[in-house]
Amino acid sequence: MRGSTWGFDQLLGQEKNIEVIKKSISKGTLAHALLITGPPGSGKSSLALLIAQALNCVQKTEAPCEACLSCRKIKEGNHADVAVVEPEERSIKIDPLREVKKRFIYYPQEQGTRVCLIEDAHCLTPAAAAALLKIVEEPPDKLVFLLTTPYPSRLPSTILSRCQHYLMQRVDDIEMEEYLREISPGAAESEIALAKNLSEGLPGRARNIILNEVWGERREIVYNVGEKLLSPEISERELLEEAKRWVEREDLAQLLEMLSHYFKDGMIWKLSKDSSQLFDKDLHEFWMKYKIDAMNLKSCLELINDTRKMLLTNVNKLLAVENLFLQIRGRIFNV
Ligand SMILES: [Zn+2]
Repeated sequence: MRGSTWGFDQLLGQEKNIEVIKKSISKGTLAHALLITGPPGSGKSSLALLIAQALNCVQKTEAPCEACLSCRKIKEGNHADVAVVEPEERSIKIDPLREVKKRFIYYPQEQGTRVCLIEDAHCLTPAAAAALLKIVEEPPDKLVFLLTTPYPSRLPSTILSRCQHYLMQRVDDIEMEEYLREISPGAAESEIALAKNLSEGLPGRARNIILNEVWGERREIVYNVGEKLLSPEISERELLEEAKRWVEREDLAQLLEMLSHYFKDGMIWKLSKDSSQLFDKDLHEFWMKYKIDAMNLKSCLELINDTRKMLLTNVNKLLAVENLFLQIRGRIFNV
């Protein structure tokens, strides 16, 4: 969300969704169950909270004012008519649903629209999903369910078919750069550009990257190992030690993702000599130093991406990363 704007406008790239939602709210045709889908970091929860605010704002306009008591209470998470259900240990059991039923159906309140926000709705257990379905099949007046999930296909089709669907849109490059400059005024242009490229159009992800100090550290680790992989004087033993250090970290997946961008940049630079096409524009000076064939870099990139896929399954992580580093070495020096 943006700091200096308010209401629905603070959501990036969601103009189409918001137009439809505003219209439904002003006409009173909003469905009893909404499903908001999109990858992590796309702003699903922010949109859901804004809808809850809009439905209860004392200004009674189609967009929340964010200043009235109702809007503020919803933002702080203590509005009597808004319940938030979240997974506990990756599952949403039936109890919180029963609680909602008790709170909103047996004891209805007069004013406003009651909202039940179910975060990561794919975590509903079958019993909880059945309980939800029962309510949604015969929805009481002035009760709206807002479900968010990155994985809609994991929800029962009976629930999917009763929801109005909203797919979060990715933010375009220009808007994302503006956003990054706004939340991180001190960042260098090259950092902004890299964060934008890594964000894949997801504002939450962009925010994490630019505001996260770990990220700078991660970049250093990856570039350091990248350079070692390209340097024949570094021994295999040293590479294996690096592999061990990587596997011991919790952000192995992110390190490998960044390593893949690193090699991709090398390949693009070798092919195009155009630094504007690079993920990290600072890298072109680095790649200029190395006389490595673009096709070798391409083959390294494939190795990295294969390993990333492999790590999503139940493989021995250490072996996989050790293998990766040694194979990269082999591809680069054709050994
Ligand atoms: Zn308000």
